[in-house]
Amino acid sequence: MNLPARVKLREVAPRDGFQSLATFIPTSRKRQIVEAVAAAGLKEIETTSFVSPKAIPQMKDAADLLALVPRRGITHAAMVPNETGARKAVAAGADRLVAVISATGEHNRRNVRRSIDASIAGLDAVFEAAGDTPVTGAVAVAFGCPYEGEVPIANVFRLATSYLTRGADAIILADTTGMASPVQVEQMVRRFQDRFPEPDLVLHFHNNRGTAMANLLAALTAGARIFDTALGGIGGCPYVPKAAGNLPTEDVVCMLEQMGISTGIDQTAIIEAAQLLERILGYTLPGQAMKSGPVSCVSERCAF
Ligand code: ZN
Repeated sequence: MNLPARVKLREVAPRDGFQSLATFIPTSRKRQIVEAVAAAGLKEIETTSFVSPKAIPQMKDAADLLALVPRRGITHAAMVPNETGARKAVAAGADRLVAVISATGEHNRRNVRRSIDASIAGLDAVFEAAGDTPVTGAVAVAFGCPYEGEVPIANVFRLATSYLTRGADAIILADTTGMASPVQVEQMVRRFQDRFPEPDLVLHFHNNRGTAMANLLAALTAGARIFDTALGGIGGCPYVPKAAGNLPTEDVVCMLEQMGISTGIDQTAIIEAAQLLERILGYTLPGQAMKSGPVSCVSERCAF
C-alpha cells in the first residue's frame, strides 16, 4: 500500500456535529469539547459557523465560543455562508474561514437559497472580508447529490477553480450525504491532485451507508493526506439527529496509528474526549473505539 508517514485530521464535531443537533448545546459544554480535542493533539478545529441564528440556532454563540476556547497552537476555522458571516468570523478572531458551495444547483438552492452562479459571484465579497485570514473552499455533495444524483467532476473543478483564483489555499471535497464509493473516491483524489497539485486537499466523508472508513482508505492510498473527522462520529443531517454522521475522530486515529501512520493525536485522550461528548449528549454515539478501546492485547478479552 502507498501509505504516508503522517496524516492531518481536522476536527469538525463542534461545527458539523453540533449544528445537526435539535437542542442547543451550552457554550460552556462546547468549550469543554474543543478543549478536550485540542488537548488530545488536534491542531485544526472547525469550531463554529457564522450563519444566521434564525437558520441554525445551534450556532448562535459562534463569537462567544471563539472568545473562550484555547488559542495557542490551534487553528480555529469557522464556516461562513456569505460575506456577513465572513465579516463576523474575522471580527471574532477566527484563524481560518471555510466557504461552502454545493456542486449541484438543487443542493445549493436548498442549502443557501442561491444558484451556484450567485454563490460564486458572492465569493469576491467573502474573500475581501477575509482579508489576511486564510480561506478554505468547501465543495458540498462533491461525490453525489441526493437531489440530482451523479455529480459531474467538471462541477467540482469549476468550484475549486473559483475558490483558488480568489486566493483559497485549501479545498474540501465533501461527501455530504455518504454517497461515495471507494473506487469513485480513489479516482476523484487522483484526478483532483493532477489538476490542482498546489492546494491542500481535504476529504470529508459521511457514513450514511457505512462506507466512510473504506472511502478514507481509498483516498489515503490515492494520495490524500488531510481528513475531516468528528468526535464520536456525530454530524450529518439536522433532520435525522441520530443518523450516522462523520467519521469518528477516535476511530480514525486508532486505525491510522495501528497502520503506523502518525496523527499526532493521543489515542487514549481522544477516546476519553469522545466519552465526555457522549455523556454531554446523553445518548450512544456511533464511534466504535470509544466502546472497545485502542488495540491492545490486554483489552481483547472477548472470545469468538
Ligand atoms: Zn459534513
